[in-house]
Amino acid sequence: AIKVEEDSPEDLVDRPPIITVMGHVDHGKTSLLDYIRKAKIADGEAGGITQHIGAYSVKLDGKQLTFLDTPGHEAFTAMRARGAQVTDVAIIIVAADDDVMPQTKEAISHAQAAEVPMVFAINKIDKPGANPDKIKEQLSTMNILVEEWGGKYQCQEISAKHGKNIDELLEKVILEADLLELKANPNKNAVGTVLESSLDKGKGYVTNMLVEAGTLRIGDIILAGKHTGRVRAMLNEKGKNLDVAPPSTPISILGINGAPSAGDKFYIMNDEREARNIATRREQLYREQGLRTQKH
Ligand code: GDP
Repeated sequence: AIKVEEDSPEDLVDRPPIITVMGHVDHGKTSLLDYIRKAKIADGEAGGITQHIGAYSVKLDGKQLTFLDTPGHEAFTAMRARGAQVTDVAIIIVAADDDVMPQTKEAISHAQAAEVPMVFAINKIDKPGANPDKIKEQLSTMNILVEEWGGKYQCQEISAKHGKNIDELLEKVILEADLLELKANPNKNAVGTVLESSLDKGKGYVTNMLVEAGTLRIGDIILAGKHTGRVRAMLNEKGKNLDVAPPSTPISILGINGAPSAGDKFYIMNDEREARNIATRREQLYREQGLRTQKH
């Protein structure tokens, strides 16, 4: 069976927060993620990000932040539907020259349902038609009162396109994350969530995932959804080969014999045959469920 090891308090160490950007289409999610990726890539390594692996890590004042790089709440909702909760803090982005839109409201209610703290980014303040106060007003009608109006929600006016006030926004995100006192045990077998997977003609199945606890190592026997394999290679978003991946690390791995779904959990198994047996049982179960739903 799948054994998830218990954590004793002395094993728990700080882990970086995982952040999702949500908001209405065209309000600037991609621009914000692109700007942060370019400006703040961790380690200042040459080359920058070469791989899209569904998430990336950046550093600000020595603090690491991991961003999910698939904007929009479709990914967030799809994962939540599978019981996966991979976000610690949500940035809700609203264009200051527009209104709080249906998708903004949806994003807010998703974050609220998941009890994920929100930081508001009022974007496009460089535009002549920008009216940040109107956005704050509209938020207040949803019972969301920003700090400068005496409420509890942190809010930052930004321009994602020009990189204005992004550090200030990230500092607020860090403040929010610090309150959560996020910890994980790196001294056990890795567990985590699949972000996306694909079949590459040259490399075979490529699985992008996030290690949530424990440490993933080359050679580990992995079970992800109904697929198994052995970790053959691990790459980070800079295309660098890793031997180990601690908690909150986004990685792209080779070695899983199939394409698990976004939101599937992964576990490390001690026994390859047992891993395959579980995978086969899951496959049968899915097939039976599929047949049942077809009949109705
Ligand atoms: P998404 O659909 O939420 O990912 O939005 P995008 O990031 O694709 O942005 C939609 C459009 O708004 C693009 O044309 C961006 O260049 C533009 N945009 C995003 N942020 C800003 C900003 O801060 N100022 C201005 N003037 N335009 C912006």
